[in-house]
Order: sequence, then structure tokens, then C-alpha cells
Amino acid sequence: MSENRHPFRLTGGCQCGAIRYELTAPPERVHLCHCRMCQKAVGGPFAVGAPVPRTAFAWTRGTPASFASSSLAHRDFCARCGTPLTFRYDDAETISVTIGSLDRPKDVPPVRHYGVEGRLPWLDLLATLPSETTLQMMSEAQRRRYVNHQHPDHDTPPDWSPPQ
Ligand SMILES: [Zn+2]
Ligand SMILES: [Zn+2]
Repeated sequence: MSENRHPFRLTGGCQCGAIRYELTAPPERVHLCHCRMCQKAVGGPFAVGAPVPRTAFAWTRGTPASFASSSLAHRDFCARCGTPLTFRYDDAETISVTIGSLDRPKDVPPVRHYGVEGRLPWLDLLATLPSETTLQMMSEAQRRRYVNHQHPDHDTPPDWSPPQ
């Protein structure tokens, strides 16, 4: 191993900042999963999972809660804020993190679809819908009252807490 090589590292965590994790290998077979379990687990039309070997995954702050969504698999999440964080088959050597929980999800594009039996037919329409930014959606009064309580998209000291 050469000494000046940058070790690979991607970080992520939950919305409230109680749980943080790191990946020390690039995710492979990043995928959308349209199955009904993934829809329910993330509360969305599909989940996007970024798998890495378990040896390349570590929790770096806090301990997540987990739910055995079947007799074969667990899903980890933050018990404080509810962010879905992982999916893992109990007997697999990989663990998938939810792509939205990564600090830089745009660096990890999906390469395939799974669970297509659950694929929602209106996904085909998405690119044609009218679009606006978050600020455009807020009223003037909401903009004045707005304070972001979400953990920032990078590691922070252990005593980090959101602005009030
Ligand atoms: Zn949280
Ligand atoms: Zn699924």
C-alpha cells in the first residue's frame, strides 16, 4: 500500500445527527428497490440502496434501532428521528445504506432496478411534472421563521446539537 494514497471514505447519518456511519469502500451495484417492503421502510415510492462489504462499514456515532422486516433481513434506523439507514440480509457479507442518508448522495448514482414487481406506474411521469425550489414553496412568513434542525452533511464533534 502506498503511503500517499487517500483512504476511501464516504460518510452519512440520520437527520437529527444521533447516528453517523462511514463507508471505507466504494458502494457497488447501487440500486433502486421498488418492492413493497422498501416502499414502506423508507415511506417513499422506492428505496435506493448503496451496498458495501460489512468490513467496509462502521457506525461512528450512536447505535441505531433495527427492525427484522422479514425472517431473512434487518433494517437499521434512528430511533430518535426515524431516518431509515440500512438494509442487510442476516447471512450476507454486505450491508446497504440508504442513499439519502449519505452526506453526498449525488456521488453514488444507481446502476440497476430491483423489486420491479412493486414499481409504481406513475414514476414514468416524474420528469414531466412542474418543479419549484424549497424557498419558492415557502411563504414570506415561513422564510422568516425558518431554522434548520437537520445535522449538516459532514462529520461534526460528538457534542454537536442543532441551532434552536
Ligand atoms: Zn436521528
Ligand atoms: Zn426492496
